[in-house]
Amino acid sequence: MSEPGRPPHMTPDEFRRYGHAVVDWVADYWSTVADQRVVPDVRPGDIAAMLPAGPPDRGEEFGTVLADLDRVVAPGVTHWQHPGYFGYFPANTSGPSVLGELACAGLGVQGMLWATGPACTEVEIVMLDWLADLLGLPDRFRSTGTGGGVIQDSASSATLVATLGAVHRASGGAWRAAGVDRRYTVYTSTHGHSSIEKAARIAGLGGNAVRIVEVDDETQAMRPDRLRAAIKSDRAAGAVPAMVVATIGTTSTTAVDPVPEIAGIAREDGLWLHIDAAYAGAAAVCPELRWTHAGVEYADSYCFDPHKWLLTGFDCDAFWVADRAELVDALTVLPEFLRNAATESGAVVDYRDWQVPLGRRFRALKLWFVLRWYGVEGLRAHIRSGVALAQELAGWLRADDRFEIVAPHPFSLVCFRLRAGDAATEELHRRLTASGSVYVTHTRVRGAYVLRLAIGSPLTERRHVAAAWALIRESVPD
Ligand SMILES: *Cc1c(COP(=O)(O)O)cnc(C)c1O
Repeated sequence: MSEPGRPPHMTPDEFRRYGHAVVDWVADYWSTVADQRVVPDVRPGDIAAMLPAGPPDRGEEFGTVLADLDRVVAPGVTHWQHPGYFGYFPANTSGPSVLGELACAGLGVQGMLWATGPACTEVEIVMLDWLADLLGLPDRFRSTGTGGGVIQDSASSATLVATLGAVHRASGGAWRAAGVDRRYTVYTSTHGHSSIEKAARIAGLGGNAVRIVEVDDETQAMRPDRLRAAIKSDRAAGAVPAMVVATIGTTSTTAVDPVPEIAGIAREDGLWLHIDAAYAGAAAVCPELRWTHAGVEYADSYCFDPHKWLLTGFDCDAFWVADRAELVDALTVLPEFLRNAATESGAVVDYRDWQVPLGRRFRALKLWFVLRWYGVEGLRAHIRSGVALAQELAGWLRADDRFEIVAPHPFSLVCFRLRAGDAATEELHRRLTASGSVYVTHTRVRGAYVLRLAIGSPLTERRHVAAAWALIRESVPD
């Protein structure tokens, strides 16, 4: 007999039964996603219109909820795990990642402090050390050195946290109490990510604080001479240059900024160097691609997204700092209700001081599951297959003189256009999207409309890239 008024909680046995049904649903999805249109055929409002105006008064049968996944949700899904999905950057997931996420959800731990989740904190510390090893990152980023790693929800949050650290440093710590007292400036290239401007706005520096440094026409990477000149002229005008964000693998074309030169300038001028390797960082698991990471040993902070190309479901950004004490000093606030013996002892990491929110979930579990399921060799195989397929596609593009490749492509993104011009390239793009079997996105390089084809879905095989290429050739407008 249940207590009067007791809510209808799902019992462990019910959870077991329905949980198995949901796992089956996901497994069926993965087995059949290749047969779907990559991008759904819906108009704005179509999906919302299928939902009732409010929640049910009485709880419903779980079976009807599950059925609505097929009826309501499935028609409106953009299939990021589809083998023909080549848009933006990949947002990989994988079986072990989903199961790690499930374990995390089941534990329902809130790991704001070491004391509120010792395993949540310590597994994360060790996973970030493992990842630092895997990518060949410098020793000082490890928990055994002066720094350490933390999982942020996204690269955007990592940029924000780095910005706060940089302003804290540039103000000599005064920022913490007094706020933004001077005109601080932040530098990135024309192709630096939009999250850098967002971070500057949130940090109170204002969007104008972000100085856009010109790129080299050929490589689309930041020009160090222009960086030096911009810092000099801003300083002369009374600003305080605080941070430079170098990108390894820009979102537009995966250009790699010349980090060693940029680091030299940052050091001379006392700027915080943050490296945004959101997508391309994953490539460093392969020793033969580590050349793309030259100079990371000089960074004050570095981030990459395992949720892009390293088989770990969104959200999972890995962020490291070289000096954890400085970061904690910038962000810590200790109200009475969070005081505890472990924190007072100074012997533990409280990750609440490494991020914007207070609360955090046990995201390290999915990383742990992924790293153990694939192993170093498995992860390298994933990256290598993406890179090899992209290089093969680039070869096909080069052999067809209707096409031109517009930027270097060391990773698994190829940017190309039709020599016939923007109108033809846009029409080709429209036809590819309409086909439903392939999805690519676009950017502008040197002002021209360019298609971006990013390989990286775990389901993508050589035959899918070959089919995409066949479709691209057939879809060229006359
Ligand atoms: C994707 C991307 C980001 C933003 O990633 P989120 O994790 O979604 O915030 C930032 N920088 C670069 C270079 C990116 O490619």
